Amino acid sequence: MKIEIHVNCIECDGYGFVADRHPNDPSCQMVCCSECDGIGSKDYVDDYDSIVDAKEDWPNAVSFTYI
Ligand SMILES: [Zn+2]
Repeated sequence: MKIEIHVNCIECDGYGFVADRHPNDPSCQMVCCSECDGIGSKDYVDDYDSIVDAKEDWPNAVSFTYI
């Protein structure tokens, strides 16, 4: 069955925004994360027999949904 895997964005750690340069730089600004479009998470869809099987492949996932 198809399972949707919800994973925190690796680029922004789930915040949805990232620093555009080193945070110690005074002109540093937080900008919308281009990796997840500011959502903070990414969804993947894959075929698994159960959520348990999906968890083995996605140990860092936030949640799983049957679709
Ligand atoms: Zn992101």
